[in-house]
Amino acid sequence: MRRLGVRGGDRVALVGPNGPEMAAAFLAITTVGSCAPLNPVYRAEEFAFYLEDLRASTLVIAEGAASAATAVAQRLGLRIIEMKPDAAAAAGEFTFRGDPATVAFPERQPDPEEEALVLHTSGTTSRPKLVPLTHRNLVTSARQIGASLELTPQDRCLNVMPLFHVHGLVAALLASLEAGGSVACCPGLGEFFKWAEEMDPTWYTAVPAIHQAVLREARQRGDWLARHRLRFIRSGSAALAPALMAALESAFGAPVIEAYGMTEAAHQIASNPLPPHVRKPGSVGVATGTELAVIDESGRLLDPGQTGEVVIRGPNVTAGYDNNPEANSRAFTNGWFRTGDQGYLDSEGYLFLTGRLKELINRAGEKIAPREIDEVLVAHPAVAQAAAFAVPHSKLGEAVAAAVVLEGDADESELRGFAAQRLAPFKVPERVFTVETLPKGPTGKLQRAGLAEKLGVTELDLRHAGRARRFEQPTSKREAELARCFGEVLCRKETPGIHDDFFDALGGDSLAAATLLVRVEEETGIAIAPERFFANATVAGLAAALEDVAPAPAGDRFLVAIRPAGELAPLICVPGAHGNLAGFYHLARYLRRERPVYGLRLPPASGRFVRYRVEDLAEAYMEEWRTAGRQGPCAVLGVCSGSPVALEIAQRLSAAGQPVVLTAMLDSYNLTALRRLTAAETAVLRWKHFEQRITYHWNHLRRTRPAGAPAYLMPRWRAFWRERGEAFGQALYGALAATGRPLPRALQGPTYACRDAVSRYEPHRWSGRALLFRVQEPRDGAYDIEAMGWQDVFAGGVEVREVPGSHLTALREPHVAGVAGFLEEALAE
Ligand code: AMP
Repeated sequence: MRRLGVRGGDRVALVGPNGPEMAAAFLAITTVGSCAPLNPVYRAEEFAFYLEDLRASTLVIAEGAASAATAVAQRLGLRIIEMKPDAAAAAGEFTFRGDPATVAFPERQPDPEEEALVLHTSGTTSRPKLVPLTHRNLVTSARQIGASLELTPQDRCLNVMPLFHVHGLVAALLASLEAGGSVACCPGLGEFFKWAEEMDPTWYTAVPAIHQAVLREARQRGDWLARHRLRFIRSGSAALAPALMAALESAFGAPVIEAYGMTEAAHQIASNPLPPHVRKPGSVGVATGTELAVIDESGRLLDPGQTGEVVIRGPNVTAGYDNNPEANSRAFTNGWFRTGDQGYLDSEGYLFLTGRLKELINRAGEKIAPREIDEVLVAHPAVAQAAAFAVPHSKLGEAVAAAVVLEGDADESELRGFAAQRLAPFKVPERVFTVETLPKGPTGKLQRAGLAEKLGVTELDLRHAGRARRFEQPTSKREAELARCFGEVLCRKETPGIHDDFFDALGGDSLAAATLLVRVEEETGIAIAPERFFANATVAGLAAALEDVAPAPAGDRFLVAIRPAGELAPLICVPGAHGNLAGFYHLARYLRRERPVYGLRLPPASGRFVRYRVEDLAEAYMEEWRTAGRQGPCAVLGVCSGSPVALEIAQRLSAAGQPVVLTAMLDSYNLTALRRLTAAETAVLRWKHFEQRITYHWNHLRRTRPAGAPAYLMPRWRAFWRERGEAFGQALYGALAATGRPLPRALQGPTYACRDAVSRYEPHRWSGRALLFRVQEPRDGAYDIEAMGWQDVFAGGVEVREVPGSHLTALREPHVAGVAGFLEEALAE
């Protein structure tokens, strides 16, 4: 880091997916400067705010991670350092890549009073406050947590909590390391039981919403529950319902330890003790090294049993918010830090939290300032006033809702969609209510507290507040299939009507919506962008959305508007021989919002042989593009067999005087160049590639235990045979086409017609240049050949970028952000 120009005292923002690399990067950064980990799901505006507010000198970003941060950092002139994980090395190993500094700063040990971590907390204003935490704050807290949980070198923590929050960073990571134990940093909650099986942890820590999700799945994991090694389960960051605590204890047969913490205290303040000491359901436990008291409004210390504001002090507590004297004067009273939480201590020193004096929404442990949401909603032209507020929620603890006073026309889904464009997904209100007026106090100040009750929005309302709609049965096989998925995800016995709203009428929330979309993708192979689902969250709406992305069964229209609006140069995406547009919907989500994205359908093929030329197809596409009145610069992206078509489109547009700002190709070979190779050359290249494949898979399999090998190998094995089958089918198609006989069923559909056309294509040399994406995972039927054979076609050169994932997964989560990031970078150039 020093060689790349980072110096002591620098603030370094860190953005990347959860996992061992993030943990190692955090530790690495704190040995030089101060680390500011940021939530990778933030939108560009949010990144702009955080990076500026931090006065960060540098952004460290995981290769292929959320591109919005990179673009913003570039705009702000920050130093950008990329973390490139080493696929062949052990978990957590990576290289920092960046421009070397002219002077490398000398090595020095940071002082205990230097800032090591800096995080934002949601304040009572829309502007979050900056909490600096020193090395002393962090180490004290890590030791206190280790002592209260009696951690030893034999302990192993399974960390599913994000590493941009003190809970994951201090309780899971630092407390484990401080105790000499180990910690497995997972990419998220995704496959909790698989990881638990593999890592064999002695404890895990999470927020109650995660415990609920784990408990739901635990019911099918009797085998693991019978043999796990968990000493205890820790819960914190939001209130744990005693019923959930009891259910967890009975399912796992391990004590559940509820703790209380906050960012300003470098996490833990209090915790219930381990057995044989008493843990009290409903209490957040006893002080664990931090001094803890309760005061009244005048600042007087209260006796046990008396309710007031919880105050703390100790070496783990921050010295004060950064650059915010006003917040500091409110936060500190007689040396005590006021937590903004309300509660009382019982006679044995156990703290019970009873409420909150500060204005924030605690959604599954994520703290959200309601003012931030108000500001986004009033930016909508139809909204005159807005107030976001918390509503009790069965899974999340609290959910975000908002009330608006309208001065124009806008319905709930429009406003939620508007918010979703500007706010990270967890901040988007689950419900937006239209009201005549908002309750104001005598001074005209908005009365947010109690707004939910005033509007009559209870948890029950949130689940069933939907307008009553007539129940309608599914009308197609697809609708029936989707209705079943809705029922499964929402754990409802009765099948929903096709017009029942997932959120309003069926009580779904965004967690359940994410699960549903994954289920739907598994069933149909089609990924639906959440924004599209929000727009009409019903079985009928989802069925229509799926129709829109599937290749058209008939008709002559090729162009699919994936995201039609926006003032930037549009991106035209040409799919591979399967005509699958799903990946482009994923991609659109990571590209700049102002960039229109179009997909192209393959021409329909029926029982007859279709023998078209790539050039004719490109011509037909362009005719439709021109008829649609599209002019001005644009960019093209071809995937696999779509690349020749993309190249032809680029050439045609350029020849017609329409600038093509970027020609990009994903994992695509120039077959003409391959044909030019001699048999001996081909054999050598294929052998080299075979070796690469073996090394790649061996390195991956070494990391998976034997039990994980089938899950790793099976999809690859299937892909291997599918490709073999298709190559054979293509040869057969070409041979049979000459005979004019009817087409066998297995060769019908657009795939073989497309492969056949591409196999006959001869590219012309062109003055343009290309951006070529190579996928990290080598695949069957590939060659280790320079620029995949394209260097002689593009006179302007071919820039090759390696992207995470495989031929099949590069445009899927979690890899798609990689392609999007490079595309936006190249487009910005
Ligand atoms: P954060 O700074 O994100 O860690 O949030 C700190 C806040 O989370 C506290 O001030 C409390 O309002 C809340 N919190 C943390 N732990 C608990 C808990 N066990 N029960 C209820 N609220 C909690």
